[in-house]
Amino acid sequence: MSAFPLTGGCLCGGVRYEVTAPPLSAGYCHCTRCQRRTGTAASAQARLAPGSLRVTQGAELVRDYAPPTGFLKCFCSNCGGALWSKDPDAGEVMSVRLGTFDGDPGIRPSFRTFVAYAAPWEPIPDDGLERHDEARRR
Ligand SMILES: [Zn+2]
Ligand SMILES: [Zn+2]
Repeated sequence: MSAFPLTGGCLCGGVRYEVTAPPLSAGYCHCTRCQRRTGTAASAQARLAPGSLRVTQGAELVRDYAPPTGFLKCFCSNCGGALWSKDPDAGEVMSVRLGTFDGDPGIRPSFRTFVAYAAPWEPIPDDGLERHDEARRR
């Protein structure tokens, strides 16, 4: 078991957060938006329980990028580090990027989404995870 709250932050350390409840699920997203956003083949992220993330430092550094549709992409304006996504209507943090946790968040990715758009230069590993061509039905 991981100890709660979990803590994490951005690359420069300006933004710090804590997560007070176990994440609900985790997965890799292979969509082109996540490829552009991260500069990598996929984004690993955990869906959080509503209201379980609290910014403990550097809230003024967090910027939102609003794509034409979908969740806001939140990042640190000082270092550019990706942090989490946010529902544009409810203002609720949805998924935090797994790489921002300080320690082991406990949860493990169990699915891959938007694999139809996966980067041609990195084969999807044969890891037995659930695969979805598009979004995952909840
Ligand atoms: Zn930063
Ligand atoms: Zn994505």
